[in-house]
Amino acid sequence: MSFRVGTGYDVHRLVQGRKLIMGGVDIPYEKGLLGHSDADVLIHALMDAITGAAKLGDIGRLFPDSEPEYENISSRVLLRKVMSLLEEKGFRVVNADVCIIAQKPKMKPHIAEMEKNLSEDMEISVEMINVKATTEEGLGFTGRGEGIAAQAVVLLEKTDNSEV
Ligand code: MG
Repeated sequence: MSFRVGTGYDVHRLVQGRKLIMGGVDIPYEKGLLGHSDADVLIHALMDAITGAAKLGDIGRLFPDSEPEYENISSRVLLRKVMSLLEEKGFRVVNADVCIIAQKPKMKPHIAEMEKNLSEDMEISVEMINVKATTEEGLGFTGRGEGIAAQAVVLLEKTDNSEV
């Protein structure tokens, strides 16, 4: 049996006049994340962990922010595209662990819905997806509420017998 591990990290700036979309959940807040797509920092970190483990490069290469077709696109659509690339390469996701780093707002009330969304897009059991959140105790850019970061770790298993 062949396994691969990947990590992902992403940051987006918090600004007025944007929606705050995390794990596909529209979270009520006075600010939102700035980006070319919907700036779903959680899904971006997760996709980079998947592409890293599968030797698919990174999402900046797969979905360049110079492309108008990705403007304001839901990151859930991009995640589904990454999952089909993964399937083509003969991998499946065993489990994923994602950590949101944000001072505000509270993520806890939304985590179950985020996990459900990811489970649907990745077509794996919600038992295999863990989303958690932490603050950085008021320190740094997340602590000052200037941005939100996310980290992800993913384990992949080869589903066919090919070498790569
Ligand atoms: Mg991003």
